[in-house]
Amino acid sequence: KAAGRNTARFFDPVMQAAVTTHAELAKEIRLGLQRHEFVLHYQVQIDGQGRCTGAEALVRWNHRVRGLVSPAHFIPLAEETGMILPLGEWVMESACQQLVEWSRNPMTAHWTLAVNVSASQLAQPEFVASVREALQRSGAPAGQLKLELTESMLVDDVEDIIVKMMAIKELGVSFSLDDFGTGYSSLSYLKRLPLSQLKIDQSFVRDVLTDPSDAVIARTVVALGQSLGLTVIAEGVETAEQRDALAAMQCDAFQGYYFGRPAPADALILSAGTQNLNL
Ligand code: C2E
Ligand code: MG
Ligand code: MG
Ligand code: MG
Repeated sequence: KAAGRNTARFFDPVMQAAVTTHAELAKEIRLGLQRHEFVLHYQVQIDGQGRCTGAEALVRWNHRVRGLVSPAHFIPLAEETGMILPLGEWVMESACQQLVEWSRNPMTAHWTLAVNVSASQLAQPEFVASVREALQRSGAPAGQLKLELTESMLVDDVEDIIVKMMAIKELGVSFSLDDFGTGYSSLSYLKRLPLSQLKIDQSFVRDVLTDPSDAVIARTVVALGQSLGLTVIAEGVETAEQRDALAAMQCDAFQGYYFGRPAPADALILSAGTQNLNL
């Protein structure tokens, strides 16, 4: 906990300006990549029958001094310094390798893996090629790779984004719209994007049982997804009661601490194996 506090302070954007330049932080991330300090944790995704259908990859920085650092503390810095590009490539490469590993185990062979993508990655002219190459190099099943975009990325140059999404979809990869409901995406864009899933933001899930307006939003996102032919997953599900309320709204899938916290891949298989006992 003490290390966590130090971490938060060091990576606090206000402190950062005082103590560290962008160049120094970029160097720190580059060194972290060279030293293999970044790790992927995985959080299970569960369908309406309580079966594990896959996971989301969530990066952590196993910093040699600061311990395990949350992405909330370094992804914004990685984005500002441009280091999100090499870091994002590492994430994609590692995620594809994990899919290959899962494909060798009958219990996990059908699992999908969701990978978060930053706006600046998607803006790269080489982004489509980099996804294609990561798939080819690893031999990962493209149909089991899912990219998570957020609404906030869809504001500038939507045409360019749609072209790239379509090219990536051609590879067999699918798209989920993360943190849905927190951004400003216009419904007319939503119709044009080749998405296969909406992800209800956890801020609406948290009080879905007690705040009628959050319940209405969750219900509306499910209805919107259904009418656009998309599946809907809820993130941040922490209790059986939240799951049940969302299931009653016909939400298709669930993710959150109730089913399992993000964990290293080997720990994940164990928890996924006992998943059905929870329900
Ligand atoms: P996100 O993609 O919306 O991921 C969901 C976050 O909610 C994760 O935080 C997850 O650990 C947390 N979470 C999951 N279940 C629950 C729950 O039941 N209750 C609560 N309170 N929280 C829950 P995390 O791992 O700290 O990641 C934060 C954000 O960092 C992610 O939000 C994503 O935007 C970003 N991120 C993580 N990994 C990557 C990555 O590889 N690339 C990029 N570009 N961004 C990443
Ligand atoms: Mg996500
Ligand atoms: Mg999210
Ligand atoms: Mg979120």
